[in-house]
Formats: sequence, C-alpha cells, structure tokens
Amino acid sequence: MSKSLDPETKKQLASRVKYYKEMGIHDFYRRPVEEGAELALQPAVADDPLVNTAPAAALPPVLGDKPSALKLIREDIGDCTRCRLHKGRTNLVFGVGNVNADLMFVGEGPGADEDAQGEPFVGRAGQLLNNMISAMGLKRSDVYIANVVKCRPPQNRTPEKDECDTCSPFLMRQIDVIKPKVIVALGAVAAKNLLAINDSMSNLRGRWYDFRDSKLLVTYHPAYLLRDPRQKKEAWKDLQMAMKYLGLKPPEKAPAE
Ligand code: URA
Repeated sequence: MSKSLDPETKKQLASRVKYYKEMGIHDFYRRPVEEGAELALQPAVADDPLVNTAPAAALPPVLGDKPSALKLIREDIGDCTRCRLHKGRTNLVFGVGNVNADLMFVGEGPGADEDAQGEPFVGRAGQLLNNMISAMGLKRSDVYIANVVKCRPPQNRTPEKDECDTCSPFLMRQIDVIKPKVIVALGAVAAKNLLAINDSMSNLRGRWYDFRDSKLLVTYHPAYLLRDPRQKKEAWKDLQMAMKYLGLKPPEKAPAE
C-alpha cells in the first residue's frame, strides 16, 4: 500500500518541483523504493541550494561544485533541437568564463564568429566588450559571459520570443550556479528577456534591478556602440555603477574610443 508523505516533506517537495520547473526541468524520475522502506530526506549540503532540502528520490544526479553543475546544464542542453535555431548552427555557444565571477555579462545570441568558435563575444563586438572589461580593471577571464540564445539566429536577426523562451531556462540555471553579484544585460534583447519588461533602453538603463540572487543593470550592446560610438560614454556610466557596487577601483581614464 502506498504511504503518504508528511505535510512538511510534501511542502518541501512542492517547492523543489516548482524551482526545477522555473529552471526548465520538467521530467523527474523516482528511484524504486522497497516495500516498507522509510522515506528519508537527503542530508543537507551546506551552500548548495540545489541539494539542501529535497527528498533524495526527487533529485536529479550530480549537483555540487560549480564546474560539475555547469557541465550538467551543458549535458541537459545536449545536441539541442528544441527550437529552429539549431538548423543553422555550427557550434552551440554555451558560455565562458570564471565560474566564481562576481560579474556576468549576458548578450543576445551568437553571431558568425561565435558560431564558428563556440564562444560568446569573440568578434568585433567581443573585442569592444573586452575593452569595456579591461576599462573596469578586470580581465575577460575574471567574468562570465553568456547569451540569451545559444545558437546563432540566421543572418544575425533578433531571436524570436519562442526561441528565447526555449533557451533562457538554461541561462537561468547558469546564473543560479554562478551566482554573480552583478549581471550586466547587454542590449534590449537581453534586458527584456531577463527582466520580462518591455521598455525602451533609455528607461531600462541607469538603475538597479533585483534579479534572482544578483543585482542587474542594463547597458548598451557593444554592437550598438560600434554603430553609435557617441553612446560609449553612457555605457561607461553604467559600467561605473557596477564597479562602484563591486568595489572595483575606477581606472584613471575612461576607456579609449
Ligand atoms: N552578440 C551577442 O549578443 N552575443 C555574442 O556572443 C556575440 C555578439
């Protein structure tokens, strides 16, 4: 005869299932339980939000250190065909950088160079992003960089809503693993998808948002800054907000044009 769960375990289980659903995980499995076995909660693991409350039977495998958690996300994405963007991709662009980064940049989606190399922001816009990062007194390897969609949209068009909705749960999981102090959304597509707000860049910029466990701010996309370099000084103001929050020492001069 099946044994019902006590209310506290039920509550924890429901909250864990909700959390996984928000991260885009919908399939669960149950380990076979022997007749008469007692249900026991898995012991809590300090500092790991993914494993500290759920009953063992509801947990997917792995979790633990950040590289393993990211590896699991990458494995869950697999050779993805969930949306039409897979058809034109050469390489899926997962994300790159320091898993312990305090600062994470989120762009829109890979372009031709990123698709060819499998790494975000390696083309002209990437070169400008690198300059922005150095202007903050950091190295590219200090930060983490990812995109809303992981496959290149054809002709670099803006990713469509269903493509973003399909892919962004994986980005949310990356953010939840890395737990940066600050996320900088690069451009309107990243900002609107992360914040689920439809507003102009001028309204979105210049303020902090609470986002999951991080603070988020919005700035111009480097590709836009390449087209309109006059906006670089505005972007620099945004980056200075991030620097102040992170306690980074402002360099003597603003970045070179
Ligand atoms: N533009 C983006 O939004 N992301 C990249 O990785 C490259 C260009």
